[in-house]
This record gives sequence, structure tokens and C-alpha cells, in this order.
Amino acid sequence: MELMTAARLHKYGEPLVIEKIPFATLRPHEVRITVKACNLVPNLNNVMNRYAEWFPYLPLPPLPAVFGLDVSGVVKEVGELVTQIAPGDRVYVNPLRSCGSCHACRSGEPHCCAGAAFQGYFGWGPDASKTVQAYPSGGMAEYLAAPAASLVKLPDNMSFEEGARFGYLGTAYAALKKGRAGSGKSLVVTGGTGTLGVPTVLLALAMGVTKIFAVARDKRLLDRLRAIDPSRIQTLSYGEEPLDEWVRKHNEGRGADIFIDALSTGAPPIVTLDGMRALRRGGVGIDIGGMKEPINFDPKWFMCTSLSWIGSTWFTPGEGEEMAAMAAAGTLDLSHLDHVRFSLPQANEALNYLDARGSGGFTNVLVMP
Ligand SMILES: [Zn+2]
Repeated sequence: MELMTAARLHKYGEPLVIEKIPFATLRPHEVRITVKACNLVPNLNNVMNRYAEWFPYLPLPPLPAVFGLDVSGVVKEVGELVTQIAPGDRVYVNPLRSCGSCHACRSGEPHCCAGAAFQGYFGWGPDASKTVQAYPSGGMAEYLAAPAASLVKLPDNMSFEEGARFGYLGTAYAALKKGRAGSGKSLVVTGGTGTLGVPTVLLALAMGVTKIFAVARDKRLLDRLRAIDPSRIQTLSYGEEPLDEWVRKHNEGRGADIFIDALSTGAPPIVTLDGMRALRRGGVGIDIGGMKEPINFDPKWFMCTSLSWIGSTWFTPGEGEEMAAMAAAGTLDLSHLDHVRFSLPQANEALNYLDARGSGGFTNVLVMP
């Protein structure tokens, strides 16, 4: 059996071990990808060190395991049933896996499958064990096997570093689509300088959103965000003035059409509530950050103002292809991201660096085998 270098976790809470391991035999519908970049998302340390304790009902890959969520690379070989992907193709691997046979999967909604899981990361619910075991391995290795149907072809003008950011970009993109983002629309985003917030702003610009109201705390990062397009982006350091009044002041007296809450676990619920208040009548609020504190709000207020509040998780390979098309056309500009690169033998250093990132959501931490 062919061997490859990988960074494997042998025990939760301990450093990765760099070692040679066998590359599994390719199944007929799968593709072997030479990994060029694996994005280390900020939550990875939690998944590897704390999820077993925090969320014992979420299945994790059996140990020893190769973790790594967001991968870009080059197709090396294809399974016997694969027709539209060929060796040499530059791709992003959408890591969402599902059972493939339940009602949700057969209806084209794999993210609603009870067996949904992220390859090389964790299962979304107690029923995802089988999926996790079918796709345990992620991107911190020389090679990755993935279903051909999960691939997004990357345009030539997009780097592998940019391509490996597609996971968080796609999460933002799917939410913006649910909010019907487009020309003439206004958007509030909380957590605006974070890992999901920066992609939300970049995609909103690409989709033609006219007014973007980004809220965060760090003024230096907010200034950097605003500088991307000062005519369309306004920024507020949270607490400087009431969020809803600030939006209306800069939006002809109206609330915003869309509110994307990109705040993550641990953020105070009052910020999310302030974002809801900044919506116009009929506006749509969408959670993508996963702030987990309960929110106390009055349903009658939502009824009387026709507000919506929805959750949005991940994205489809098709939505990935749409982002690739925007990047190819130059409307989606990913040059604002800072890439911090580590080799595969430096995987533990990369994990340590995650908590020390200085540029918030602008920073892209990558392991590049
Ligand atoms: Zn399913």
C-alpha cells in the first residue's frame, strides 16, 4: 500500500504526530487530491481538544485521525465512475458529507440530513457516526480522497491559499443568498471583522450590495475593512452609539434589508438583538456564527414587523462554483486576505498560531504539504 505523510492526532488534547501512513484505496466515485493548502479554521483546536467533553453526542473521527476541514489541491487520479473531473484539475473540496439516501439527501438538501458530517472534522449530530466513519480523514496530509460530487473547480486566477478559504466564504455566501442580497440592498453584519464577517463583506461587495454596515470592536480592523470600499462600507465599533440608530442615520431613515449575525460562541446576545432592531420592516436576519446564548425577544414584534430570523449552515458545491465564477470574473476580490503558511511538519505550530492571529478574519492560517 502507498504511504503518505500526514499529521495525525493519536490522543485528544495532545500534539499531532507527523508520520507516514497508508493512503486508503480510492472508491469508484471518488477522486484523489494532492493537497496544496488546508485551512486551519479557528474552531479546529476546540474540535480536537474540547469537543469530546463539550459535545459528547457529536461523533468525532476514530483515533488516530487526520483532521483538517478546508482543502484545495490538484486532482491526481479519479475513480472508475468519475467522468467530469480529470487529473490536473485545481479544486476545492467541500467537506460536507451526508448519508446520501434519506429524504433530505434525495431532496437535494444534504445539510438537512441527520447523518451530515464534515469530513476530517466532526459529525453534526448523534446520527452521523456512519458518515464520519466513511469519511474520517481531512486535509493535514499529502493526499485526500473525496467524492467527485463534492468538488468545486477553481479558476486559474485563484491561488490555493484563497481556495482553501471557501468553507467560511461559502457559509457567508449561502446566507447572503437566503437574504436575497443584491444591488440596492443594505446589510448589517455583526462580528464584521471575524472569520465569517470578512467573507460576508467581500461577498456582499461582489453581489452588488450597496450599503454594508459592519459592526465589531477592534477599530484597527474596522478601519482596514472600511478601506476596502469606503463608499459602500460603514463601520461601527460596537457601543459607540446605538446600532439601530446608526444604521438608520446612514440609510435614509430605514433599517437594513438583511442582518447577518457572524458572532460566535461566547458573544453577548444583546449584540444579536441590536442587529435585529437595525432591520427594516420585512427584513431578514440570518445566523451563521453560532452565538449560543438564548435571546429574549418578543414574537409579536416579529409578527407585526414581518421580520424573519433564520439559521444557515454551510453551502453546496454548486454555490461554491458560483463563488469560483465570481472570483474568475474579478468581482469577488480575495486579495484582502493575509495568508500565514506552515508546512505539514509544522502542523502543531500552525495550531498554536490560530489563537494568536493578529488580523482577525483577514488572516488565513494554512498548512501547505
Ligand atoms: Zn441523508
